[in-house]
Amino acid sequence: MIPFNIPPFVGSELDYIKQAVEKRKICGDGDWTKKCSTKIEAITNAKKCLLTTSGTHALDMSALLSNLSTDDEVILPSFTFTSTANAFALVGAKLRFVDIRPDTMNIDEKLIENAITNKTKVISVVHYAGVSCEMDRIMSIAKKYNLIVVEDAAQAIFSKYKGRPLGTIGNYGCLSFHETKNLSMGEGGALLLTNENDIEKAEILREKGTDRSKFFRGQVDKYTWQDKGSSYLPSELNAAYLYAQLENSDRIQKSRMNAWRTYKNELSELEHKGYIEIMKVPAECEHNAHMFYIKCNDLHERSKLIDYLKKNGINAVFHYIPLHSAPAGRRYGKFVGEDNYTTKESERLLRLPLYYSITNEDVLYICDLITKFYCK
Ligand SMILES: *Cc1c(COP(=O)(O)O)cnc(C)c1O
Repeated sequence: MIPFNIPPFVGSELDYIKQAVEKRKICGDGDWTKKCSTKIEAITNAKKCLLTTSGTHALDMSALLSNLSTDDEVILPSFTFTSTANAFALVGAKLRFVDIRPDTMNIDEKLIENAITNKTKVISVVHYAGVSCEMDRIMSIAKKYNLIVVEDAAQAIFSKYKGRPLGTIGNYGCLSFHETKNLSMGEGGALLLTNENDIEKAEILREKGTDRSKFFRGQVDKYTWQDKGSSYLPSELNAAYLYAQLENSDRIQKSRMNAWRTYKNELSELEHKGYIEIMKVPAECEHNAHMFYIKCNDLHERSKLIDYLKKNGINAVFHYIPLHSAPAGRRYGKFVGEDNYTTKESERLLRLPLYYSITNEDVLYICDLITKFYCK
């Protein structure tokens, strides 16, 4: 059986967790958290990286930092994970879903301006499969209308747009280290800040509304309740696991990239013959091999292919059910403009197994089966 995902494990995780336990320091913001944040800042060039309990919580923090009122509107794609939308629904904002581009499955930057009203405050973009949205255009729209840009870069660590790391182009960048992502800590994430002025506010929000971060740096002699906040800091045990992964990220990325390239090489003939489409990476985007997906002709063909692969021991999976057609999506938002691609393309998309420890033989076997399915 080839599963869809196996969480990454490089070998040193248990030793690092043991060190945290032996140091009797297992709550948040100890040495391991600091080491992780410093490394992530080096990878992304973010002004500040705040490790969080999940990618979802990094998005929630972004929504809270955006200071929205209940009349305010947020523009986002409908083809995304619920957390992109929940963050803004939780603070009472109204969701305005915009169609995606069929090539990258990302929000169609050409349709954003049409969805802007005098209530619009935020554009929340999702870099699907670690492939960047068209950020130049999106940032210039944001500048023109004075909007905040939140990047859901949950799938996008190591990805770039015109050489710039994703999650550091807009105001807030949200990474995830869930066990399905390239690097993991079980459950966890990070909020990336690009603006110096946001750092203090974000630290207070993350630390139960206190200035404890300043206290730890010796900048104040006691810490007190400064503002509204919650607890978004992960345990040192999780941070220790992540640090092992960050240290070995070259190895992890190399393995994923190899698998990704093998898929692309092996399946390109099926694409040339017109049977399937293979995911596209625009020239200005550097992807991170987070995902390899193909597109079948339609929903029916995809279901047949999923069954065929399952019978042969392979777990390939579809992805998001568009949010605007889900009960909560209808309650908290609406689609602006035509749904030309969101529903249609989501029904054709199929993700193939891709993880750190997948072997080349497994990838070749999967490609072979898909070829047999189409050309028997
Ligand atoms: C994984 C993911 C999230 C949520 O991250 P968690 O760490 O699981 O909370 C949000 N958005 C997208 C696009 C994701 O892929």
